[in-house]
Amino acid sequence: MATTTKTDYYELLGVRRKASAKEIRQAYRKLARKYHPDLNPGDKSAEEKFKQIQEAYDVLSDSKKRATYDQYGFYADNIPPPGAGVPHGPGPGGFPVDFGGFESAGAPGGGSVRDIFSQFFSGMGGGAAQRQAVEVPADLEYQIDIDFWKAIRGTIEKISYTRLESCHTCHGSGKAPGAEQTCSACGGTGRRAQSTMGMRFNVTCQRCGGTGRVGNPCPACDGEGRVRRTESIDVRIPAGVETGSRVRVAGRGNVPLPGAGPGDLYIVTRVAPHPYFERRGDDIYTNVPVTVTEAALGAKIEVPTIDGRALLRIPPGTLSGQKFRLREKGVAPVRDPRHRGDQYVEVQIVPPSAVDERARQMLKDLSRFYEQDPRKEIFERASR
Ligand SMILES: [Zn+2]
Ligand SMILES: [Zn+2]
Repeated sequence: MATTTKTDYYELLGVRRKASAKEIRQAYRKLARKYHPDLNPGDKSAEEKFKQIQEAYDVLSDSKKRATYDQYGFYADNIPPPGAGVPHGPGPGGFPVDFGGFESAGAPGGGSVRDIFSQFFSGMGGGAAQRQAVEVPADLEYQIDIDFWKAIRGTIEKISYTRLESCHTCHGSGKAPGAEQTCSACGGTGRRAQSTMGMRFNVTCQRCGGTGRVGNPCPACDGEGRVRRTESIDVRIPAGVETGSRVRVAGRGNVPLPGAGPGDLYIVTRVAPHPYFERRGDDIYTNVPVTVTEAALGAKIEVPTIDGRALLRIPPGTLSGQKFRLREKGVAPVRDPRHRGDQYVEVQIVPPSAVDERARQMLKDLSRFYEQDPRKEIFERASR
């Protein structure tokens, strides 16, 4: 199913944009009962409404579809959900950033996502000073890949993205500077007669929005009051971000409707793994090899940490696989940088290499120090 209907799904169901799944389900059930074709035999408008409600519920009841709808303002199959699988660099993840390469087979006419948006926007560029503006999502999302160290220490990233911003020439009014004229469509009355099913109504003039006056459309934005602009900004990524962290850049989102204030831009970080340090949340996990004698006698060894080298004391009789904790050698989280995570060090006992006859003899002597067969206990356990 593909849909580019401009009817807002939330409005259709009569719920808030932040409505819970339960609220959406309840609203859907109530409306579905009201407009069900069985209860409204022969009523075409009820049937149409019932279909719309079903469509709205189909999308809003599915968290992935809903996220896509919230992000793009519509839902169609084959559109990647926000932030998912959108390559870094030339194609960052968020409307109206470049969608190059995403083909949406379900879209009308088989065009790309970009085509759908250009259809939306072309509807706004008719030349009249007043028109039905299309509301777009105010907040934008942009995904970036950053390496392990930048995530830990913080960084400044330059990003380039496109947003709908207020037209600087007309300050969002859509009108060219100069005198206004009487609206030719309504003769300045602001109202127009319209016939529907044999009855005549006076409706608000679409061209002048009921004011009876029109100006010339602003040449910079073709009367839309908004322009699409690609800009490069430096974004400060704070220390401690992890994959999925959202960094808010206030006021850098879309202008959702002409004359409205801008939403925010959210930078979503994806952190690359490190070849040695394994990060889990705010903790760091590492492996460290120790010799047989260090494990048997105990030792102070140097281990790598994200701050550089640190001393770790291992007690006599340490086993391979034993884990030790280095307090507060983990990552300083974004929200609470003073409470760092820990580092866990797992020791691995490595055997000495028997390079010559003398070494082999010494290792044989060493085996005398085992008081009993080290596998005796597991055979006892295995036989229970
Ligand atoms: Zn303008
Ligand atoms: Zn008019």
